[in-house]
Amino acid sequence: MAKKGHLLIISAPSGAGKSTIVMATLKKNPALRYSISYTTRPPRGNERQGVDYYFISDAAFREKIDSGELAEWAEVHGHLYGTSAAFLEYNLHQGCDILLDIDVQGAKKVYAKYPEAILVFIAPPSMEKLRRRLAERSTDSAGAIEQRLKNARMEMAEAQWYHHLIVNDDVDQAVSKLKSIIEKLRLSE
Ligand code: 5GP
Repeated sequence: MAKKGHLLIISAPSGAGKSTIVMATLKKNPALRYSISYTTRPPRGNERQGVDYYFISDAAFREKIDSGELAEWAEVHGHLYGTSAAFLEYNLHQGCDILLDIDVQGAKKVYAKYPEAILVFIAPPSMEKLRRRLAERSTDSAGAIEQRLKNARMEMAEAQWYHHLIVNDDVDQAVSKLKSIIEKLRLSE
């Protein structure tokens, strides 16, 4: 039988440094396919359509839900986010490993459908550092930062059922920890 790919699910509260870690990991692992999500959130600064996300309208998102195109979807920080079911199926059958950067609600749903998935939670060193990072990033309003911190507290409580926890004190160390998780994953079959 042809070898199936692996699913690597990464979640983190926003501001934990996940995007930097994910980007560095993808660069080092060109064979790892990134699952580009659909979202109703408007693009930030230099985000590109079809690269960072597929930015779509609320109506288009609802159509995808109704037609069963999404493997999972969730509302995060007031916007809708979802994963393409076809992308997952196609790449897994091609034997390709996939990296998903999704929230804890989505991770739970994908894990229920794909129990062989590996889940990695990236945590900030402390809530105070997280607050500072979110403020420094200044892409969000004060209200949005408060909402993200509130969500972060709830998300941190979910870290317990992830297979791996990486505390992002140092980006290089976090990337190398993720690298060894990926290597183990590939050796597992
Ligand atoms: P951001 O708006 O900062 O890019 O992402 C906000 C949150 O949505 C992050 O936790 C990110 O992991 C999550 N997210 C991104 N894409 C998806 C998706 O397809 N499904 C779910 N459930 N969450 C997603």
